[in-house]
Amino acid sequence: MNRVIKKTVSNICALKVPRKSFCSTEGVKVAGCSIPEVSNDHEKKQAISKVIPQYDIAIVGGGMVGMALSCFLASNPMTKQLSVAIIDSNPALGSSLHIKKEDPPDPRVSTVTPASISFLQDAGAWKYVEQNRHAYFNTMQVWDYTGLGYARYHARDVNKDFLGCVAENKVLHNALLSCVKDSDFKTTIYPLRLSSMTLNTSSMSMAEENPTSKEPPSAQGHGAELQLSDGSSIYAKLVVGADGGKSHVRELAGIKTTGWNYSQNAIICTVEHTYENECAWQRFLPTGPIALLPMGDKFSNIVWTMSPTESNNRKSITEEEFLKDVNYALDYGHGPHPTSSLSGTRDVFSWFKTDATLSTNEFFEIPPKVTRLASERMVFPLSLRHANSYALKRVVLIGDAAHTVHPLAGQGVNLGFGDAFSLSRIIAEGIALGTDIGEVCYVMCVCIGVCVHWSVCSWVL
Ligand SMILES: Cc1cc2nc3c(=O)[nH]c(=O)nc-3n(C[C@H](O)[C@H](O)[C@H](O)COP(=O)(O)OP(=O)(O)OC[C@H]3O[C@@H](n4cnc5c(N)ncnc54)[C@H](O)[C@@H]3O)c2cc1C
Repeated sequence: MNRVIKKTVSNICALKVPRKSFCSTEGVKVAGCSIPEVSNDHEKKQAISKVIPQYDIAIVGGGMVGMALSCFLASNPMTKQLSVAIIDSNPALGSSLHIKKEDPPDPRVSTVTPASISFLQDAGAWKYVEQNRHAYFNTMQVWDYTGLGYARYHARDVNKDFLGCVAENKVLHNALLSCVKDSDFKTTIYPLRLSSMTLNTSSMSMAEENPTSKEPPSAQGHGAELQLSDGSSIYAKLVVGADGGKSHVRELAGIKTTGWNYSQNAIICTVEHTYENECAWQRFLPTGPIALLPMGDKFSNIVWTMSPTESNNRKSITEEEFLKDVNYALDYGHGPHPTSSLSGTRDVFSWFKTDATLSTNEFFEIPPKVTRLASERMVFPLSLRHANSYALKRVVLIGDAAHTVHPLAGQGVNLGFGDAFSLSRIIAEGIALGTDIGEVCYVMCVCIGVCVHWSVCSWVL
């Protein structure tokens, strides 16, 4: 399978397909495909529709969420027979990275929740994450600059071994890619961008029998037609928009969003300490929260929210000045250390019966001092955006394409993994019921009557 995907990618990369040229359904045969000899327009149309590759599912966007969907489909006995195209020009999809534990750490990391870990374990992807740098953490401390109080949580409070795990995005992505490559799943990767899309909103069987359909002839009977950035096309029964916050699939499908830009940026980077950090720290400052997340070895990741002007300044100041600012923000800057987790609040929260064994009674701790910058600094503008609908006939949105959230709670990709897992279950149920997979997701959302999170759709099934 590994070889098949590699060959497919190199074949497709090598192929200069002019607009309206056509390829075989079998990705591996792409380089050798040709347009059959035809005598008239009608036959030509038929021949054309025969040679345009057809897939059950086209996943637009092979980021962490798109690749997680492929993994879940590959590991489910009901869906592992499906043919899937992944469209993304990100070079990381072309070949497995050879990540070494001793490689310098990346600035981009994700905190992965126990629920996401469990999905990824079941799909067979988590073992690849564990082969690289990652850090489980069992303690979290949250406090604010006023010094009035703090909260410490421990995994044992909820009878768990850990609260989460921090892994570099490249490690997570590579693990998902390796998981798909090591399966027998029929995946064809198109290292291209989606340019446009024509949806056939009739059900597949009806369209095939309906010559008077108003759908463009190219889309009839083939589900959606996707035009790619090299001018070629593919057909798919279901198009999954996993193409991030600025989703082109969402735009082409005419799905509107509700949301706003925060007037805040996050500056992120990886830093080093003199000893290993094993706790996730978050301090709320007047300008926004700063988080110090353990990454394994002596590394931690900083996610620091501030105004766009401050973030641009902090990106360009010297390493020495930046480290000083970080230590100030994480320790004594802006206000004193809190002395008690509940001081002054016991009466207010008297209704809340605390368990004496809970870690709320643990002492406040000072986070480890940052001694070195171990990666570049990156700045991200922050926004909240929610698609007004997650599904139309033949189109669904998952991950950031469906919802983009503030990184404060580290939930973005976890929501996306939840979407991907739930969608894979809905597709499996659709197959079991013999329905058109291009419609099952839409039908689910219509049945529930509102636009709800994917997991709700899968619970209903
Ligand atoms: C500073 C910061 C910290 C964060 N920390 C956390 C955290 O700790 N935990 C957490 O859960 N989440 C976190 N997040 C959120 C998380 O990074 C995102 O939710 C996640 O990356 C979304 O993944 P995705 O696959 O949906 O989208 P993306 O990662 O944006 O991937 C989209 C893919 O689609 C491709 N694409 C785009 N357009 C097209 C097109 N037209 N044709 C083909 N392909 C296309 C792109 O090349 C890309 O590969 C954080 C976010 C930020 C900004």
